[in-house]
Amino acid sequence: MKNSKIILVTGGTGYIGSWVTKSLLEKGYTVRLTVRDKSKTTKYKHLLDIAKSTEGSLEFWEADLLTENAFDKPAEGCSAIIHMASPFTLRFNDAQKELIDPALNGTRNVLNAATKSASVKKVVLTSSVAAVHGDNIDMKELGISEFTEEHFNYSSSVTHQPYSYSKVLAEKEAWKITKNQNQWKLVVINPSFVMGPSLTKTSNSESLNFMKEMLSGKYFLGAPNLMFGFVDVRDVAKAHILALENDLAEGRHILAERTVSVYQFSKIIKKIYGNKYKLPLMRTPKFILYLVGWMFKLTPKFIRRNVGYNISLNASKSKEKLGLTYTPLEKTIKDMIKQIEEK
Ligand code: NDP
Repeated sequence: MKNSKIILVTGGTGYIGSWVTKSLLEKGYTVRLTVRDKSKTTKYKHLLDIAKSTEGSLEFWEADLLTENAFDKPAEGCSAIIHMASPFTLRFNDAQKELIDPALNGTRNVLNAATKSASVKKVVLTSSVAAVHGDNIDMKELGISEFTEEHFNYSSSVTHQPYSYSKVLAEKEAWKITKNQNQWKLVVINPSFVMGPSLTKTSNSESLNFMKEMLSGKYFLGAPNLMFGFVDVRDVAKAHILALENDLAEGRHILAERTVSVYQFSKIIKKIYGNKYKLPLMRTPKFILYLVGWMFKLTPKFIRRNVGYNISLNASKSKEKLGLTYTPLEKTIKDMIKQIEEK
């Protein structure tokens, strides 16, 4: 059924964003998508194709995260904003310019646009568990047995885990801006490492790079004992829709189906696909990682503070308050590899 509401979506062309946009279109919303360059149609052709078979409709507006006031016009007349745009890459030259400035200034520009547009009543922000914790050792340093929505990453900086730093700065800024107005409500989604099939062929998200590298044999000689939370991209999209539509939704929401190490992740693939791929032969001992870590862009500080440390992410709020149910990681992996194979 057609929905009369207009939702402004940033980052809707991306890996997560494409699934969120698809869900909104299927629910009949008018999705006002901001893109950096409208002439790059390959970035959003898949969304136009999806829109054809849904009740919803798509609009494209140009706006860059780094341009002040760029989101003011697009926000006019929208009932809500889903702000997902932010660079998710570990391949950068200048962390300040390429990660932190777009994340932080982008959040400022988008949320200030929300306040300037009288019609906006809700903002859903895609943060990350990277804004909840930095290094895996943080859990031990804090003397806690799990990370919850109460925690904020304190250990990242512009020189150490700058992507995580960009996310915690952006989320804190969002909460600061939220406090200074009472027109709209902020709901934050904090996904762990997102996996699953992709609707876009142009995203450079590290999620997609990680799986491609795993299957291509990058970790053949060994994978680190490095723990991450994992969550299915389709569940992340659902969480955004639930956050948007549920009037009672508030605060932050950690999303994780489970936490496993990179090595354990490869074992799940092996269980399904046997020896089809050049998967890790073993768990790389930490002392070896210090020698070869540079090949994987892992600094000695990162290895020291992350490898071999357990983490636990409490995702119960996402289940109890948003009503989210999680796809098992085995299915997520299977669907993702199936899609890669079909390509
Ligand atoms: P993608 O790289 O696929 O998507 C990033 C999106 O941000 C793209 O639409 C991109 O647009 C847009 N973007 C980047 N820089 C700018 C800019 N300067 N101006 C306007 N738009 C810009 O990554 P993901 O889908 O994986 O990530 C989406 C969000 O989810 C990010 O906020 C990320 O931090 C967060 N996240 C991701 C996780 C994951 O595991 N993937 C985990 C937790 C959080 P364009 O198409 O023009 O490049």
